[in-house]
Amino acid sequence: MSLSFNNFTQLENFGHSLRAPSYRFQPKCAQEIEEVFRLARKHELTVTARGAGRSYNDAALNGGGVMLDLSAMNHILEWDPTAGLVRCEPGVTLEQLWQCVEPAGWWPPVVSGTMRTTLGGCLAANIHGKNNFKMGTIGEHVVEFTALLPTGAEITCTPTKNADLFYSMISGLGMLGIFTSIRMQMKHIESGLLEVHAFPVHDLHEHLSFLLEYAPSYDYIVGWLDTTHGGKSLGRGQIHAANYLHGKEDPNPQQTMQLNNQILPPRIFGVFPKSILYLFMRPFVNNLGWWGVNTAKYLASLRRHTFRQSHAAFHFLLDYVPNWERSAGRGGLIQYQSFLPKETAEDAWREMLTLSLKRGLPSYLGVTKRHRPDQFLLSHTVDGLSLALDFKVTERNRTKLSSMLQEFDEIVLQAGGRFYFAKNSETSAEHARAFLGEETLSKFKKLKKRCDPDGVLESDLYRRLFR
Ligand SMILES: Cc1cc2nc3c(=O)[nH]c(=O)nc-3n(C[C@H](O)[C@H](O)[C@H](O)COP(=O)(O)OP(=O)(O)OC[C@H]3O[C@@H](n4cnc5c(N)ncnc54)[C@H](O)[C@@H]3O)c2cc1C
Repeated sequence: MSLSFNNFTQLENFGHSLRAPSYRFQPKCAQEIEEVFRLARKHELTVTARGAGRSYNDAALNGGGVMLDLSAMNHILEWDPTAGLVRCEPGVTLEQLWQCVEPAGWWPPVVSGTMRTTLGGCLAANIHGKNNFKMGTIGEHVVEFTALLPTGAEITCTPTKNADLFYSMISGLGMLGIFTSIRMQMKHIESGLLEVHAFPVHDLHEHLSFLLEYAPSYDYIVGWLDTTHGGKSLGRGQIHAANYLHGKEDPNPQQTMQLNNQILPPRIFGVFPKSILYLFMRPFVNNLGWWGVNTAKYLASLRRHTFRQSHAAFHFLLDYVPNWERSAGRGGLIQYQSFLPKETAEDAWREMLTLSLKRGLPSYLGVTKRHRPDQFLLSHTVDGLSLALDFKVTERNRTKLSSMLQEFDEIVLQAGGRFYFAKNSETSAEHARAFLGEETLSKFKKLKKRCDPDGVLESDLYRRLFR
């Protein structure tokens, strides 16, 4: 293994708004990871792990350093369909996982809005799903993991063995060590379908009240928020709330759990390849076009209705249009997600959404969820709600957008909120310190010294927030 221009490559974040040249290595086992650490040390370079590179920000970027691409460590090592226990290498994607477990009547307990993410990346960010209020984050379903530290030590962690590392490496953004295998408990399901209820909400107050009031009666809940309309309509949108089917509610569960009833079709109407659809979306990705799209979507969602949908279609809607993020054009896109206590969310988001409209920098997509707190060290969740906002970046708006998102940070902090390190790219070290608090930061720094005394593991995000 050696450093050469052959493995020097330009990497990007998911939204294509950031770029970082790095030496890319693709280990196939833990020993090869160790070799990469040795090589990096020899050349005084830092190392960052990368799963599928699906983070919206700089979490998996390392300008000028080494990129440890774990996508080739992608084997499902053990699968017990009786107990629903699975052990995987870190590069296994959620797509591989659900396709392995679903036909036997299981589903990953927590999934992201895309199935392309890897388990290593999901643990490092400690992802949440549309059921965060009920099932917590993915870390709560990890039974055991093994990890390699930059010191060369291999450790095994469970909620009771090396518990401090268990609760900090999960959520630790790959800054303490590299996951090499992950054992997780799956969730038993009795049908391949979910029953989904769709209902409109007419303003922000109704939107957030419905999420809070309805969540306890459902397994999943998620809201779409029309970010292009202000005034009395500010916060209007549509809620989707879904439940598992039980017993005889699905007359044919063996069939609905078959993969061919779950897999998203590659063509629209059986003809049009979805892989080029993003090119046709481009002309609409501007303030006027997206205003039109949001208006049409809202008008189409005014009727309450109930329907059945496969798990894959419900969870991975965004995967329906491959490369959709490229429709934002050359500047890419930024996602800003804030987590707010239920008591302060409405006022804070009213202020942020109004500000973005006033500045002529509307978000094009808004998604809301209901959350509960967790005990992982760099946790992003709260007893409250989150709002994720997608912004198109251009050469002209980049500086203005960045300063507006920093103003958003101030509003979130004043409202007692938190940020998510897999999404926001504009949060400063000062704002991160303010939301994490001194005690958490000093714990994290002590663990960092213990696991990585030479500071080998560093990403662009680490340098932005922690150094
Ligand atoms: C369309 C879309 C929808 C999304 N929806 C959600 C959602 O609903 N909920 C949610 O919580 N998130 C969501 N995300 C964010 C995404 O789940 C996280 O960013 C996740 O970390 C990406 O996984 P990845 O494998 O691509 O990791 P990467 O982006 O490659 O890396 C993420 C972090 O994990 C670290 N890492 C990767 N592998 C390892 C390893 N083996 N050991 C240690 N550290 C490692 C990296 O260093 C980095 O810090 C979404 C992202 C997209 C693009």
